[in-house]
Amino acid sequence: MKPLSWHRTKIVCTLGPATDAPGVLAKMIGAGMDVARVNMSHGSDADHARRIEEVREVAARIGHPVAVLADLPGPKFRLGEIPSGARKLDEGEVIALVPDPGGAAALSVRNPELLGALKAGETVFLADGAIELRVLSRNGATVSCEVLIGGTVSSGSGINVPESELGGLVPTEADRRHLAFALDQGVEWVGVSFVQSASDIERVRECFGTSGQARLMAKIEKRRALADLDAIIGAADGVMVARGDLGVETDLAHIPLVQKRIIAAANAQARPVVTATQMLESMIEHEHPTRAEVTDVANAVLDGTDAVMLSGETAIGRHPVAAVEILDRVLRATEAQRAPIGAEPALAQRTDAMSLAACQLAMRQGASAIVTVGQDFGAAAAMARFRPAAPLVVLTDSARLARELTVLRGVAPLHFPEAAPDARSCLPQVCAWLYARSLARPGDRAVLLYASSSAFGEADTVQTVLLT
Ligand code: PEP
Repeated sequence: MKPLSWHRTKIVCTLGPATDAPGVLAKMIGAGMDVARVNMSHGSDADHARRIEEVREVAARIGHPVAVLADLPGPKFRLGEIPSGARKLDEGEVIALVPDPGGAAALSVRNPELLGALKAGETVFLADGAIELRVLSRNGATVSCEVLIGGTVSSGSGINVPESELGGLVPTEADRRHLAFALDQGVEWVGVSFVQSASDIERVRECFGTSGQARLMAKIEKRRALADLDAIIGAADGVMVARGDLGVETDLAHIPLVQKRIIAAANAQARPVVTATQMLESMIEHEHPTRAEVTDVANAVLDGTDAVMLSGETAIGRHPVAAVEILDRVLRATEAQRAPIGAEPALAQRTDAMSLAACQLAMRQGASAIVTVGQDFGAAAAMARFRPAAPLVVLTDSARLARELTVLRGVAPLHFPEAAPDARSCLPQVCAWLYARSLARPGDRAVLLYASSSAFGEADTVQTVLLT
């Protein structure tokens, strides 16, 4: 049997037809998938429910916690139906955008609110940015545009309007329905698309009712989100560098620096950050990634990301298992170089100081692990932010918390279903986990961080122990 491996940077995989094939999900989880993403822009509720159930079943069988991230579609503007399915737009042509199916010189748009907000001079992108239009004029709900860069559009093609001031659109009616479904499924994370301000996240949070709650991941893919970045990160539980739409909504050339900025801002607030889209795009078709793709993955690790995400590579690609395997190899190879943390984080609370002390002690003593009891998500995230080189083993009696934590870099959640775990008495199980992955050997040091008075009290003791 293949020896178990462990990567600090986590792997998010999008589920889809390619992961439905028998045995694929088990191989992906075995290869190191940590979070399963269901993209609610595609597929039916029945598809999502079936996939979530399979993830739960396979993860439990393998004994590896896997979180489910349900990604809401958000207010993605789209073209309506094109009678022939597709239409060519030529440079210099004038085309009307209209609410209802029009004639040959018009394209229908599914979102009337967009037509009402477009202004002369604004740029409109179609087909993921491949086609560029400029608004000439608006007459009621009919918007005339000149084609600046032509190409072929098909029915339902996405529309991006980077300069639009349209706000307050999140969550859409469809998002509310998807959210209720996702909460009913008990997902750990919900991705909120096209966030523009912290109030978008707050409005989604207000939708939590009796059907449950989930951690909210703000997808940063709008130019306006960058203007309100710190507040959005503060309002959310995590963020995603959603490079797909971000590359259309902002200048593509700025994506590398914007990625670094978002990751640094998330690290500073101890929020997990996922770097997403086109990481191994060529593997949708090919068995091996390009040199540029593996370098992109490695650079995201060096930037300090918590997780990297696969989209089409696993959802519809020809090599979903190979894509996870190569990610695992690149992550482990790159993590050998410790990711630098930027400015020393502010130690807002006593627990931050205790966490930092444990991480520093582990570094000085060359400890093979840091072991602590999981109080809650925020406490583990605040510790993971210090990016210790040693695995941060978080013991918890909550299966849900164990799954929520799978997104955090460097964190290995260990679930103890029986009773509230204790850092010292659980050492045999921690050793077994570390030894099975060749992360430690008997005689190595581990640093324990625990509460001296009760298992769930505030951690007040840092202690070094020798593993047996
Ligand atoms: C993105 O745009 O990068 C993204 C992750 O969102 P989606 O896959 O929903 O387009």
